[in-house]
Amino acid sequence: MELKVVKFGGSSLADAEQFKKVKEIIDADPARRFVVPSAPGKRNSSDTKVTDMLYSCYESASRGENIDEEFDKIRERYNGIINDLGLDLSLESEFEAIKYAFRHKSGRDFAASRGEYLNGIILAKYLNFSFIDAASVIFFNADGSFDSERTNTVLAVTLQKYRNAVIPGFYGSMPNDTIKTFSRGGSDITGSIVARAANATLYENWTDVSGFLMADPRIIDSPAPISYITYRELRELSYMGATVLHEDAVFPVRMMGIPINIKNTNKPDDVGTMIVSEPPENDSGPVITGIAGKKNFSVITIEKDMMNQELGFGRRMLEAIEKNGISFEHLPSGIDTMSVVVAENVLSGKREQVILDICKAVDPDHIAIEDGVALIAVVGRRMVRSHGTAAKIFTAISKEDVNIRTIDQGSSELNIIIGVKNEDFEKAMRAIYSAFVK
Ligand code: ASP
Repeated sequence: MELKVVKFGGSSLADAEQFKKVKEIIDADPARRFVVPSAPGKRNSSDTKVTDMLYSCYESASRGENIDEEFDKIRERYNGIINDLGLDLSLESEFEAIKYAFRHKSGRDFAASRGEYLNGIILAKYLNFSFIDAASVIFFNADGSFDSERTNTVLAVTLQKYRNAVIPGFYGSMPNDTIKTFSRGGSDITGSIVARAANATLYENWTDVSGFLMADPRIIDSPAPISYITYRELRELSYMGATVLHEDAVFPVRMMGIPINIKNTNKPDDVGTMIVSEPPENDSGPVITGIAGKKNFSVITIEKDMMNQELGFGRRMLEAIEKNGISFEHLPSGIDTMSVVVAENVLSGKREQVILDICKAVDPDHIAIEDGVALIAVVGRRMVRSHGTAAKIFTAISKEDVNIRTIDQGSSELNIIIGVKNEDFEKAMRAIYSAFVK
């Protein structure tokens, strides 16, 4: 039987108008049984998210300042929603308890979590669903890591008792009963955890965009939407900066093979993006699934004749980098050259030492560090099956007179990562995009 867990982001629940859209979406499909809300987000570009208001109010309280005025603004956000929806609900005793807790140093995480908690109470009332406090079903270990097994056991049993429920996103409880949150954007993770425990057939993640686009719309004019993407492709694209979904949200559902559908609350009829373990049977479409990239990397290149015959060369080189507390991003290498790509900012203040340590470790013939490199990841599961993808990328780029600094093709043939100069980044992205998407 179909069972959907639906998560709504902050912009989908920013005011009463958005709440109405959410209710329409839920009412349209009885399979949408468990709902995970975020805190109210921005109503327009100059607005402030309730989560940020809570952090700031808590900080004022910690400094011993009077928080009456600041807290009233938060209260107004919720009361505005309650009144505009015409709900017979008062959160006044909750507000007073929270304010008291702020003054008595209840913790930053507790403060932030109230955003989802209060929104969950309102949404449950509006939908006529049960309310399950996340603190009673989502657990963290004493070291702050997420306790997935205990959570899954308790949550699965709890959900079975309800036909419909609202479970606020973003937080859970510690063994000592204090509140802890996931990192920012963490309601996506809660949604995924609930989908796993409910053994859902689908995890719908409702936001303010109609899924993933093939490229960053700030660089490419109206990029095409992605209808299907595999979890592995998504990892590659997210790592390079494509953000719609919290990175950690993938793991709980992926484990169970539950697909995620990214949907747009403001355009519910758009199909959105399906994130799946395996691509659909008649998997057609462009060879590449998406392109993403980031600027400001440094490439440390070392050359040494007969490097390939020297036992332990790579290990010693990487040890020299590790010793400086630097982790690397990529490792494109040739027979007598090896390049290590690192984020530019991690080298700051350590350059001389890194060079010295590498020289000591492997005694290269030549060593150089080039800054200002941008990495572009071209990702696509269909690349394995089609010939000439790399050639097509390079031809497109070279036609634009852009020089390629590094090339790294993952052995899974899921991605090709190209390094170009920062100033060529946008040009290269556009060239690759138009080579594959007409
Ligand atoms: N409200 C939290 C945040 O702003 C969590 C979330 O929305 O997912 O980060």
